[in-house]
Amino acid sequence: MEKKNISIAGAGLVGSLLSIYLAKRGHKVDVYEGRPDARKKNIGGGRSINLALSDRGLKALAGVGLDQKVLDKMSIPMYRRVMHDKEGNLSYQPYGKEGQAINSVSRSGLNAMLVEEAEANGVTIHFEQRCKAIDLESATARFENASGESQEVHADLLFGADGAYSAVRKAMVRTDRFSYSQEYIDHGYKELTIPPGANGEFMMEKNALHIWPRGNYMLIALPNPDASFTCTLFFPYEGNPSFSSLDSLAKARAFFDEQFADALALMPDFDEEWENNPNSSLMIVRCFPWTRNGKVALIGDASHAIVPFYGQGMNSGFEDCTALNRLMDQYGDDWAAMFKAYEIERKPDGDAIADLAMRNFVEMRDLTGDADFLLQKKIEAKFSKKYPTKWTPLYSLVTFSADVRYSEALALGKKQDGLMAEIMAMPNIHEIWDSEAVETKMLALAEKL
Ligand SMILES: Cc1cc2nc3c(=O)[nH]c(=O)nc-3n(C[C@H](O)[C@H](O)[C@H](O)COP(=O)(O)OP(=O)(O)OC[C@H]3O[C@@H](n4cnc5c(N)ncnc54)[C@H](O)[C@@H]3O)c2cc1C
Repeated sequence: MEKKNISIAGAGLVGSLLSIYLAKRGHKVDVYEGRPDARKKNIGGGRSINLALSDRGLKALAGVGLDQKVLDKMSIPMYRRVMHDKEGNLSYQPYGKEGQAINSVSRSGLNAMLVEEAEANGVTIHFEQRCKAIDLESATARFENASGESQEVHADLLFGADGAYSAVRKAMVRTDRFSYSQEYIDHGYKELTIPPGANGEFMMEKNALHIWPRGNYMLIALPNPDASFTCTLFFPYEGNPSFSSLDSLAKARAFFDEQFADALALMPDFDEEWENNPNSSLMIVRCFPWTRNGKVALIGDASHAIVPFYGQGMNSGFEDCTALNRLMDQYGDDWAAMFKAYEIERKPDGDAIADLAMRNFVEMRDLTGDADFLLQKKIEAKFSKKYPTKWTPLYSLVTFSADVRYSEALALGKKQDGLMAEIMAMPNIHEIWDSEAVETKMLALAEKL
């Protein structure tokens, strides 16, 4: 393969991983990141923010030999959901088969590791260089530092890995026949912390993702290696209750005391965090095409920003890297054909995971507290355990089946919904769910998949 000069805008999770893939192929890779080097400056305000890493992300990390390192050094496996009701009673739902887990990893820790690995592979990362303008014909970008000094960089190829508010995509928006939509959902989020106990211990079950489902909103918590939990309240901006209705600390406290009393009791810094941590918005970006002139391509959130409820944003961006790497093998030096194949293959999967993520929001906030929903999941899990080749639950298709495309998972999930509706409509299903009659019907229905 001919060696290329490649620029990447953005040294976030996806840009850093992409740079490693490209450098390993011998290309000269320069990454331009708008923010300062997190290794030198604390840019997260000291807060630990974590993400769920699952099989698609791990597969992409494995492609550059980093999966085990991430699992060993910075991951906490979460084997099940623990649901907290208003009274603090707990119920449980395994994520997959025995031993299957999603992994809580520190966003900043993972990003720092990828940046280090990129540099170790010969990538040059230019920090505090914000992309301001792009010439899509010539893959030339103008980057500006904090003092307003700018430089023009010409490359053979340019990737926009600059996130949901991508500057590279902004240049594409102005070109003919570029379709683009950006939608803010009604909910935003606020992060809060459950610190470790007095002896440095976890104050709730460690190897689990905790959820307080409350209908139109929910609180979740993921564990960190320092024995704290990062909690995220997903909450409407308007209405009652909402960020705007809880317009004083006293109201917020009273609300938490009513809805999330067991969590509030573990949040000694609630007052300070409620006042100081931002309310952040959530949006969905869809666009097409993802590439221009065989020279410029979008990847990760720049091409498909989704809501975080399936824990798949980073995983899907990492999967873009897996797909690109495979296509590079296939197309050799024909980057124009490869970029076309990339966007045609990945667009339906980006759209599918965007839809799946919204569906999962409803599931998490509404249904994990619903007896019918929990029963349906139990029936599916039991059946899939006994007949693994006949039925894989949708959650497992998305999370633990890295070789099944998101678009295939979504299509299969829709079919399964229809079939499970027939099972749930069986008389006295809550009493007979474990019976031979249900199993026989499931076997017959599974033939339709
Ligand atoms: C609350 C929340 C929870 C989430 N949880 C999960 C989860 O559990 N699992 C999961 O898989 N995903 C999760 N996600 C999604 C995940 O964070 C994103 O999908 C992922 O960060 C996308 O990576 P990226 O590299 O494409 O973009 P980013 O991580 O946004 O990185 C973009 C980089 O580009 C830089 N940049 C931006 N503009 C410019 C510019 N003009 N010039 C130069 N550099 C620029 C930025 O500084 C940044 O470093 C979550 C998201 C949110 C909001």
